[in-house]
Formats: sequence, C-alpha cells, structure tokens
Amino acid sequence: MSRTDFDVAIIGGGPTGCVLALLLARYTAHPERIVLLQSGTASQYGYAPEKDPRVLALNHGSRVLLESLMAWPAHTAPIQTIHVSQKGRLGRTIIQHRDFNVPQLGSVVHYPSLYQSLMQAVELSGIEILSGRSAQVSLQDDHGVSIVQDGRLIRTALAVQADGHPNSPVQREYPQMALLTRARVSLPRRGWAFERFTREGPLAVLPHPHATDAQSIVWCCAPERARALCAMSPQDFSAALTDMFGTRLGKFTIDGTPTPIPLRLNVRGSTVEGRCVAIGNAAQTLHPVAGQGLNLGFRDTAALAIALRDWIAQPQHDVRPALNAFQNSRQADRQLTAMLTDSMARTFTSGMAPVEHLAGLALLGMDAIPLARAPLARHLMQGLRR
Ligand SMILES: Cc1cc2nc3c(=O)[nH]c(=O)nc-3n(C[C@H](O)[C@H](O)[C@H](O)COP(=O)(O)OP(=O)(O)OC[C@H]3O[C@@H](n4cnc5c(N)ncnc54)[C@H](O)[C@@H]3O)c2cc1C
Repeated sequence: MSRTDFDVAIIGGGPTGCVLALLLARYTAHPERIVLLQSGTASQYGYAPEKDPRVLALNHGSRVLLESLMAWPAHTAPIQTIHVSQKGRLGRTIIQHRDFNVPQLGSVVHYPSLYQSLMQAVELSGIEILSGRSAQVSLQDDHGVSIVQDGRLIRTALAVQADGHPNSPVQREYPQMALLTRARVSLPRRGWAFERFTREGPLAVLPHPHATDAQSIVWCCAPERARALCAMSPQDFSAALTDMFGTRLGKFTIDGTPTPIPLRLNVRGSTVEGRCVAIGNAAQTLHPVAGQGLNLGFRDTAALAIALRDWIAQPQHDVRPALNAFQNSRQADRQLTAMLTDSMARTFTSGMAPVEHLAGLALLGMDAIPLARAPLARHLMQGLRR
C-alpha cells in the first residue's frame, strides 16, 4: 500500500461529519489518523455554520447518539405532544409521548448550538482538524484518495463527503420556500409542536430552544408569498401568520427577521464511489416537513461507523467491501424517508380536493385509532429498524 497522510478524511464539519469523526475515534488507537476538513464556507443554503438560522427537531435516537458523544447542546426544548392538522379541511391527529412510554418525542435544537457542542467534542478527541476554504476530492486510485484544500494536497485511504452538497441532479425543486423566524404567542403551550398543512406547504410551530416563551417558525409557502411576507412589516407578518395557523396558540407576534430557504429533493442513487462515500445532506437533501433530514443523516453516520469498525483498527486492508455493505444497509431507510417526506410535502398541496380530503380522513383515522398512528410516529421518532 502507498503511504497516506490519513486513514479517513471527512470533508465537512457539520453535524454528520463531526458525529462520524467522534464515532470513528472510539474505534481506533490513532485518532490523529482521522482528519476533519472543515470550512467556514456556506452550506447549500448559503450560511456559515455559526450563523445558520435552522432549528432542528431531533428524535429520541439522535439525542441518545449525541449524549453518548458528550455533544448534546446546552439549550434544547422538549417536544412532548405533536399536533398535526390541515388548514381549511377536516382532519387532525395528536401524537403524545405517553403513547410510546418515552419522556419526550423529540427535542428542538438551534443549528449553531449543535455545531458548537460537536466542535468542542471533536477538539477534545485527538482528531486532526484542518480549517480552510472548500476541500475537494481531486482524484482517487487503487491505493487512496487525493483531496485539495487551499492548495494543500492530502492523501487518505478513505474520503467521506459530509459537506451537505449532493453531487447529483436535483429530483424536485419544490414550488415552496421555507421562511424561518421566531415568534411569541398569547396562549403558549409548553412542549407542543404543531405541523399544519396548508395549500402551499406545511407550517411548523415548534418550541424555541433558547426562550421558553417563544416559538420557532418554519413556514413553507409559495415563493411569491414568501417574498411578499419578507417585505411586510412585523405587524402584518404576525397577522398573516396568525391567520394561517389559526387560534390554537392565540395571537402571534414575530420577533425575528424571516429568512427564506429554497427547498429541493435530491437523493443520490449511489452513495459510494470506490473509496469515497457520502453521508447526511451530501447523500440526500429532503423537504423539511416532519423534521427528518438530520435524523436520517445521523442514522447514515452511525451505520457507516459500524461498517468501518473492523477496518479502522486495521486500515492497511481494503475499505471497499465495508463501504459496499454500508451502502446496501442504508438503501431502504433512505428511500422510505425520502418518499414519506416528499409525499407529505405534496399531498396536501395537490390542489385536488378529493386527494386533500382523503389526506384529511387519514389524519382523522390516525387520531381515532392509536394503532394506525403508531407506525408513522415510530418511523419519525426512530427511523427504520432492521
Ligand atoms: C428549513 C429546514 C429545516 C430543517 N429542519 C430539520 C429538522 O427539524 N430535523 C432534522 O432532522 N433535519 C432538519 N433539516 C435538515 C438538516 O438541516 C440537514 O439534514 C442537516 O443539517 C445535514 O447535516 P450535514 O452535516 O449532512 O450537512 P450540513 O449541515 O450542510 O453541514 C455541512 C458542513 O460542511 C461544510 N462544507 C461545505 N462545503 C465544504 C467543503 N467543500 N469543504 C469543507 N467543508 C465544507 C459547511 O460549512 C458545513 O459546516 C432541516 C432543513 C431545512 C432546510
């Protein structure tokens, strides 16, 4: 085998890249042979990690994973009840933590807090961190992969793409933008998360991780409406939000500038190419409905770490069989979660009354029959169990 600088190079120090680095460091006596190539460059949505406006609903499995890595952020907000409804049509369902014998269904975290706690854990782990501008794979051969970052050449046995950019054609540009902001309400309900399906897209109202009396808003709507909302005064935006959401939480008053984010579906058919493998958003970018993207990304990450466990203890061996086993193990969960979120994002916006009525009836059915809502809730909480 030709000499390499590292056994594993992870391109991208976002949540999935950091978690993979921390998991692999547990399985090797030489964490310094793992390098995390982080760049302060923007994510695919255009934000540096410290300024990323996303709030993320993480499920129980993701929480357990982050706690085991000592990287659970200091500020989080619990979700104990999820209320799902449809604007303008019948149908709603309520999912409660008691139904599943868990203290909470999930937690809301702010992207920059998660990034900070993960980076702190990585800094303590003995993993090499190289910060710079964008890192790119320049070539791969039978012995390793070459990566270039800021003119520096790095040779590694395995390259993991965790930079959040899937290198594959976009399958769907949703005719929706997500508007992210923060609001206060006149009738707050602690621990409640709401997903309200409107004709233009889902509107999520979540507990805010940094303020017990505030809500995080993720309002998916038509691009023209998003532009009009961004141009409104805070008072008019608040009135429009109250009108769209209804009166369950009283009156909304926004106290943040809305940030628009374009939405697309992009699922790579193959996540492995020789000695390169993609995880997280680099493997698939989903619609944010039901908050599945990062939870799925963490399942990719945990599965990859398990697949590499034996290899990283003896990295002179060929890594490719482990990568192929990883890819096969992840297909079903990736495809199912992408299909679920894609159909949730589109069913209620089909513009076809019978379809929307049926979707409303499905919500009612789930509400009436606990057994009917259990599989959906379980998938959203834990992902596919094999
Ligand atoms: C509006 C919205 C709401 C969402 N809500 C949820 C939710 O509630 N729950 C959930 O589970 N998911 C949610 N998601 C999805 C979630 O944000 C992503 O799945 C998750 O951030 C993916 O993590 P990642 O580490 O794969 O990629 P990213 O978070 O994109 O991180 C990639 C990192 O790589 C760095 N980078 C980029 N290019 C390079 C390069 N060339 N070299 C080196 N570094 C590079 C970037 O600076 C960044 O730090 C949401 C997404 C959106 C848009």
